[in-house]
Amino acid sequence: MISANQLKNAFNGQLNINPGDLKTLNCENCNNDKFDQVFIIKKIPALLSPTGKQILLPIPVFECTECHHVSKEMFPEELEKNATPAKTN
Ligand SMILES: [Zn+2]
Repeated sequence: MISANQLKNAFNGQLNINPGDLKTLNCENCNNDKFDQVFIIKKIPALLSPTGKQILLPIPVFECTECHHVSKEMFPEELEKNATPAKTN
């Protein structure tokens, strides 16, 4: 058995994380712990685009496999102004 410090050194000072110790994220709506990756597509207008043409920018978010709710914790805050990924049942 090696100490936590030795483990830490073995990983070049990077923190060694045991996934079993980590908190599982549950859907804030139905408490389900499985998620599908889906995309929100943001439009970059031509004026702001480096190419001068509108660009579609897919942003991955995770929705609950049961109720398709996108928990706030997984949804980038800066997207909240315009997008409403969460469905109200
Ligand atoms: Zn859910």
